[in-house]
Amino acid sequence: MSKLNVDPQEIQKFANIADKWWDLEGEFKPLHAINPLRSNYVEQYAPVKNKSVIDVGCGGGILSEELAKRGGTVTGIDMGDAQLDAARMHAIESGLTIDYQQIPAEQIAAEKAEQFEVVTCMEMLEHVPDPGSIINACADLVAPDGWVFFSTINRTAKAFGMAIVGVEYVLNWLPKGTHEYKKFIKPAEMAVAAEEAGLVVKNICGMTYNPLFDSYSLNQADVDVNYLMACYKPA
Ligand code: SAH
Repeated sequence: MSKLNVDPQEIQKFANIADKWWDLEGEFKPLHAINPLRSNYVEQYAPVKNKSVIDVGCGGGILSEELAKRGGTVTGIDMGDAQLDAARMHAIESGLTIDYQQIPAEQIAAEKAEQFEVVTCMEMLEHVPDPGSIINACADLVAPDGWVFFSTINRTAKAFGMAIVGVEYVLNWLPKGTHEYKKFIKPAEMAVAAEEAGLVVKNICGMTYNPLFDSYSLNQADVDVNYLMACYKPA
């Protein structure tokens, strides 16, 4: 295989806070907060019960576990040892069976092409050197008539203000440097990459934060900061 599509510094950022994955008030609080929303979004298109699911860039397993709880047969992949350790430990505590593996997305896509009915890749693309290659791998992993779900952060002034200045510098929710503006992805760029990979983009939906209520909601009309994308692989 050509050069690995992995930035070791990005893996390390998340390894450094690996003991915090399941701390509901810690660094990953926003991921816990959006977890029901994004899981519902997935199930709006592809109910996961009894489906084979792969969660690409699974981290400590916040999304993997929720999809397993809802009845999916879940594989989670990440390149971070500490992330996978945290995920495996927590799955035991939760009494869930999840197949966590340390393997590049491109490699498992070559080995297990079209073997998953649902592919999720959330809050991960903005941390890899070549997001297009991950999008292709996700399109390869999904079976015909299956669904792929991406989420990331838009590259807008508002996203810079909220996701970097707000979250990292004002609120201190995440360590400074967690996100880099230039790695944010515009929805149109993501849509082009998904379509080039053979997927059909069915929906793009914003996820917005309301500071007044300290809560998130899905918002079809506002993709300025965080957003989700639902893609279908034609049968
Ligand atoms: N998807 C999870 C975790 C998001 S945090 C969730 O939304 O709950 C981003 C994760 O991507 C980290 O665990 C990091 O280790 C992982 N990651 C970054 N680059 C990666 C790569 N090239 N391959 C696989 N995982 C990667």
